[in-house]
Amino acid sequence: MSSNRYLLFFSPDLINEPITYRMVKDFDLMINILRAEIDDTGGRLMISFQGSPQQIKSALKYLTDNKVEIKELNEYVHKDADRCTDCGMCVSVCPVGAFVIDKETWKVGFINDKCIACGMCIDACPPGAMKLGQ
Ligand code: SF4
Ligand code: SF4
Repeated sequence: MSSNRYLLFFSPDLINEPITYRMVKDFDLMINILRAEIDDTGGRLMISFQGSPQQIKSALKYLTDNKVEIKELNEYVHKDADRCTDCGMCVSVCPVGAFVIDKETWKVGFINDKCIACGMCIDACPPGAMKLGQ
C-alpha cells in the first residue's frame, strides 16, 4: 500500500464533472482531501491517495485523460529542533493545525502527517527553523 500527495488542478469547465467521484469508485482508492479551493480560475485539490502503486498509476492516468493537471508533492516540511525557539508564530499561521503547544513545557511540537506543505510557517518562522526538502 502506497500513499502519495498530489495537487490537482481543474479548469473551470471541469469543476462540475464527477471526476473525483469516479476516480475513487473505479479505482477503489482511499483518498484524503487535504485542501480544496474553487474560484473563477478553476479548482485546486490537495489530495493523498492510499492504494497499490498500480491503482494509483491508473487513477493518475484517468485524471490526465480527463485533462486534470497533476503535480506530485515530493517535498516535505521539516522542523530544525535546534533552531526552534518555541515562539509559537507557526501555530497561528498553520491552516491545518500541524503544530501543537505542550501546555506543561510550552514547547511547540510539529505533526508531520498533518502538513500540506503550504509553506506559511516557513515564511513566518523568525529563526528559520522550518524548511522544505525531500
Ligand atoms: S515559528 Fe519557528 S521558532 Fe517559532 S515555534 Fe514555530 S518552528 Fe519554532
Ligand atoms: S507548511 Fe503549511 S501546513 Fe505544513 S506545517 Fe507549515 S503552515 Fe502547516
